[in-house]
Amino acid sequence: MKSLPYFCRGEVIRGFGRGSKELGIPTANFPDSVVDNLPADVGTGIYYGWACVGNGDVYKMVMSIGWNPYYKNTKKSMETHVIHTFKEDFYGEILSVVLVGYIRPERSYNSLEALIAAINSDIEEAKVTLELPEHLKLRDDNFFTSAPSSSSALSPNTASTSQTIINGH
Ligand code: ADP
Ligand code: MG
Repeated sequence: MKSLPYFCRGEVIRGFGRGSKELGIPTANFPDSVVDNLPADVGTGIYYGWACVGNGDVYKMVMSIGWNPYYKNTKKSMETHVIHTFKEDFYGEILSVVLVGYIRPERSYNSLEALIAAINSDIEEAKVTLELPEHLKLRDDNFFTSAPSSSSALSPNTASTSQTIINGH
């Protein structure tokens, strides 16, 4: 995938209420403006990378890029699970992410247990792979230290509350 690593950020919006949090795996959703900027070669599936909320610390993450049920599966959605336990929800805050690598395609599971097991194995793979020196470098990228802390700090000239920086430069 030639577009990786891919840097982007945007406001955290409410998702589809599928109860990810009840499964112990909350996923923060990006608005359409961020999803619409995804390069065509970044297809659906599960990715790993780095993420930071506002100007907080940078944590490992796994992201699911899938088909958005709200648009009858004609548009993509991007859902990020940050591998960290937060004290509070962060709806309305700016989530900055870099997609570093691809784990696997999306698929459906026969049971909730099988789905949770698959996600936990994705999380384990992300944790291990991101320790590679070439991936650790991205955690320290200027992209994260320059993260705007509120949506009003993003792209003041446009109505959009998201900002996409292709390949970080
Ligand atoms: P929704 O359907 O609104 O996306 P979820 O059950 O998926 O609801 O929960 C996602 C929300 O949980 C995020 O928008 C964020 O505010 C919060 N959250 C708390 N911890 C995390 C985390 N580690 N990763 C992602 N989101 C988290
Ligand atoms: Mg969610």
